[in-house]
Amino acid sequence: MKIGIMGGTFDPIHFGHLATAEAVRENFSLDEILFIPAARPPHKSENIVTDENQRLEMTTLATRSNKFFSVSDIELRRKGLSYTFDTMNELHKIFGNATELFFIMGADSLADLSKWHEARKLVDKCHFIATTRQGVDVDFSEVKKFFGDAATKHIHRIVTPALEISSTDIRQKIRRGLSIKYLVPDVVEEYITAHGLYREN
Ligand code: ATP
Ligand code: MG
Repeated sequence: MKIGIMGGTFDPIHFGHLATAEAVRENFSLDEILFIPAARPPHKSENIVTDENQRLEMTTLATRSNKFFSVSDIELRRKGLSYTFDTMNELHKIFGNATELFFIMGADSLADLSKWHEARKLVDKCHFIATTRQGVDVDFSEVKKFFGDAATKHIHRIVTPALEISSTDIRQKIRRGLSIKYLVPDVVEEYITAHGLYREN
């Protein structure tokens, strides 16, 4: 089994997340993609984000029409900031160590990977897929230097369709009363409207 992991705040989930996950799934012949909404530490005032159950629900609604997509609440159940290292360990326990895990991330985060908690163990045990847009070059030399052989074997790159969508932009649009059609699935738009999300703050 090969499982792709798409982590994020998903506040809200949008077509950028979904299209990227689908492209990765096909290109790396993954059996499924697991979307894992991140918890936010309760003590940080700058992180006033939408209720985690609502983020979980929107993620579930958005992924329902794709039989290869599913959603996990393991980081929400753990509360506070989750280390990817802990999440991957938990997933290996659930799916068995023979299951290969592919963590999907924006290529810009690749530069920081060496500073992640238990970075070397993480890159030894899991795969990383760095997504970039066409024409954007990623400097791999630092990552190669730090992780050595493991980088060559376990860190991959993929060019995904450029979708200039961010959750920040969507939240702003809603606050300004602008349309978010074609940025999020209809079910997500309906959920946001029904629950009056993002209208102020
Ligand atoms: P925010 O604007 O609140 O930061 P976001 O749109 O960046 O939200 P996140 O939940 O922070 O969404 O992102 C989760 C993951 O999805 C990250 O790995 C991020 O790099 C990736 N991602 C976000 N937007 C896009 C997009 N338009 N295309 C491809 N990947 C994306
Ligand atoms: Mg972001």
